[in-house]
Amino acid sequence: MKTLLVGLSVLVTLVWGFDVLNAAATAGVHPLWAARQEGLYLSGLLSIAMMSLAMLLATRPVWLEAPLGGMDRIYRTHKWAGILAVSFAAVHWLIEMSSDILKATIDRAGRVPKENLSSILDAMRDLGEDMGEWAIYALLAMLAITLWKKFPYRSWRFLHRAMPVIYLMLAFHAALLVPHAYWAQPAGALLAVLLTVGVYGAIRSLLGGIGRARKTAGKIISVEHPSPDITSVQCRLDQAWRGHQPGQFAFVTFDGSEGAHPFTIASADHGDRTINFQIKALGDYTNKLATRLQTGQTVHVEGPYGRFDINRHNPRARQIWIAGGIGITPFLAWLDALQNKPQNTLSADLHYCTRDQAIDAFVPRLEALCAALPGVQLHIHDARQGAILSAASLGEAKNAEIWFCGPNGLADALRAGLRTLGWRPRFHQEAFEMR
Ligand SMILES: Cc1cc2nc3c(=O)[nH]c(=O)nc-3n(C[C@H](O)[C@H](O)[C@H](O)COP(=O)(O)OP(=O)(O)OC[C@H]3O[C@@H](n4cnc5c(N)ncnc54)[C@H](O)[C@@H]3O)c2cc1C
Repeated sequence: MKTLLVGLSVLVTLVWGFDVLNAAATAGVHPLWAARQEGLYLSGLLSIAMMSLAMLLATRPVWLEAPLGGMDRIYRTHKWAGILAVSFAAVHWLIEMSSDILKATIDRAGRVPKENLSSILDAMRDLGEDMGEWAIYALLAMLAITLWKKFPYRSWRFLHRAMPVIYLMLAFHAALLVPHAYWAQPAGALLAVLLTVGVYGAIRSLLGGIGRARKTAGKIISVEHPSPDITSVQCRLDQAWRGHQPGQFAFVTFDGSEGAHPFTIASADHGDRTINFQIKALGDYTNKLATRLQTGQTVHVEGPYGRFDINRHNPRARQIWIAGGIGITPFLAWLDALQNKPQNTLSADLHYCTRDQAIDAFVPRLEALCAALPGVQLHIHDARQGAILSAASLGEAKNAEIWFCGPNGLADALRAGLRTLGWRPRFHQEAFEMR
């Protein structure tokens, strides 16, 4: 993620720098006015670049899953591209506002002269300026509610649907307000690519095309409640379902008015288009789900997505699998996939962190699944008994490969502990958070 975001920022800065070096100096322009102008261009270019990337990533591009490490990471990159876009837009806006200070301190006489354009283009530029300003206010408001975690996800998602429109306003602003000379330079070529990609994402989103090719309908064939806060839902999907790899997830719609929620497919692909979800009551919607689902009900599933796939494990590295709470779902799919495969020699340590083993319905299930897999050692860490998983209790992990799904706090603590021990194993993490 960092490489992509930093790489794009560097590329934008380089093409902007190329233009600065090659532009002829205009006589009579004060250096501070010139610096303000170039600052406006750079911050604007960086903002539209990040925003265009965010729009592309919002289309759920499956072809980017391999280079970016899975759809959960694509969403994380989308989020950070969005945050950077708003930050650069705020800088852009502040630089724009600085003109009053410059007018007051160093006369307006040394300003950068306006480009000579036709009256139509001039009028469109004025409109572009206004649009840019409104869009920046909307972006700042969106950033505030995105970072304010207490803002209800449902309302946030509803407001977030306005983003493609805001992007189109920004694209209009950028296309009209960049200097005319850019279009014959690398900066113009890069901007054209960015705007094409971003406009494609925005229009695809507005037309409801995101994920359409991966949507399948199906029916709920059973609903169970293995424990009071877990709902187990078995679904049979239509012919269009393309199958899945163990550990992948899907966006599931049980109720059209609620929309899709991401859930891991907690079973292996047995070729019968039957999939299982284990859903924990974690918020507004999932708290009510247990009473709302019924056998025979229609379900819409979009997917599969994700790279938390057992087939990607490195057979030469020691396997350490760690799950915290509902983060056990991808491992349930893995263990299911390994059943009835006597030729499988895979060995792994599976650590499952639970709040209270005595009432956790996943514990007996895991014991049963692991009983048939002599290579997989199950370790239960019961918080109620004071058994908290630490990096040291993972055993020698220098050259291990760790697969983690659970709370971010636990992942951070384990990563820090491993660093303290001087170990840097490969650490795959499935994020259960997209906002
Ligand atoms: C890749 C992935 C796999 C997941 N697998 C499972 C699983 O197997 N079992 C399970 O119980 N939970 C899983 N989750 C978490 C599950 O999606 C959320 O708990 C659920 O969507 C919460 O919805 P809510 O309305 O009840 O909660 P809210 O209180 O509305 O939201 C709580 C948090 O859940 C997330 N969330 C809520 N709605 C959505 C949505 N429509 N799209 C994306 N994120 C949303 C947001 O981060 C939000 O802050 C997974 C999440 C992801 C990203």
